[in-house]
Amino acid sequence: MDPAIRLRGLHKRFGDTIAVADLDLDIAEGEFFSMLGPSGSGKTTVLRIIAGFEQPTSGSVALFGRDVTALAPFARPVNTVFQDYALFPHLSVIANVEYGLRVAGVARKERRAKAEEALASVRLAGFEDRRPHELSGGQRQRVALARAIVLRPQALLLDEPLGALDLKLREQMQVELKELQRSLGITFVFVTHDQDEALTLSDRVAVFDAGRVVQLGTPREVYDHPRNPFIASFVGSSTLLEPDVAERFGLPAIATAVRPERVTLDAPDGGVAGTIAEVIYTGPEHRIVIDLDGVGARITALEPNIGAAQRRSRGDRVTVSIDPAAAAPLESDAPAA
Ligand code: ATP
Repeated sequence: MDPAIRLRGLHKRFGDTIAVADLDLDIAEGEFFSMLGPSGSGKTTVLRIIAGFEQPTSGSVALFGRDVTALAPFARPVNTVFQDYALFPHLSVIANVEYGLRVAGVARKERRAKAEEALASVRLAGFEDRRPHELSGGQRQRVALARAIVLRPQALLLDEPLGALDLKLREQMQVELKELQRSLGITFVFVTHDQDEALTLSDRVAVFDAGRVVQLGTPREVYDHPRNPFIASFVGSSTLLEPDVAERFGLPAIATAVRPERVTLDAPDGGVAGTIAEVIYTGPEHRIVIDLDGVGARITALEPNIGAAQRRSRGDRVTVSIDPAAAAPLESDAPAA
């Protein structure tokens, strides 16, 4: 089966800026695929090239087996949801959702039925006659989603669609987006700079840095086995151990990333001794920063807010251990963070 989206040799230059460099990527049908990276890393440009709003400097875009590089956005079987929703303020909710169908010449009755169905799928039945300004941010975002899915695209492109929402609403909408994608069964390509969001939602994640995909994999692969220091610190938090420090923990003598939740304090079999430099209370957990004896390095541990963690304080002596299976060796050719 052809992939939903196939990018080959994609390159995009704006003047002197290389926004996307030599990108080859296949996104499968029905996949929830995220492009994750810091601001300016090229994710939005890739999305806009897939949608047809931007022409690549070189390379090709194929959608569902068909080369669409030269096609206009409306001729491509995809739809885009933008962060700013782009709703028509003077039109009612239902008219906003019907808009694309009207342009496509769909008859009034059928248009209404499809728009009602799309609104119901984003849980906005009953809001037909409101104007966008009479809705909350989350409701406006759902109207934008309804407007995109009513056209039955084969793939939906989402550019930071939850970026304008506060944290609670954002978390709620993440669950709704995932459910929507499952029920529609179509490909979602999701752009975000929020690593939690990418890990929570995606089947696969592409991590971008400076116009390139630096790692591609499932959320678990990317989180548990970050390839280089940039990924280890951009996706979740890690302590980066120099080779000599890694060796002290009984690990191979190469640069290694360690997640704080995989660091154990005062394990029965000893470990590396150190002194607690900081205890940071986060509610459900304590982040504990330890100065390791004799190596001039610090490591962070995460302990749940129960038992021993509640008794720890600055200056306490502890021993630190790392499960070898939980440490991620980094590629030697990787640039330093
Ligand atoms: P953000 O998360 O901030 O949206 P991004 O990862 O999506 O960032 P892009 O918007 O794709 O990054 O931008 C990649 C690079 O291309 C940046 O250096 C940006 O300044 C540049 N760029 C993007 N669009 C244009 C444009 N129309 N003209 C000139 N430079 C551009």
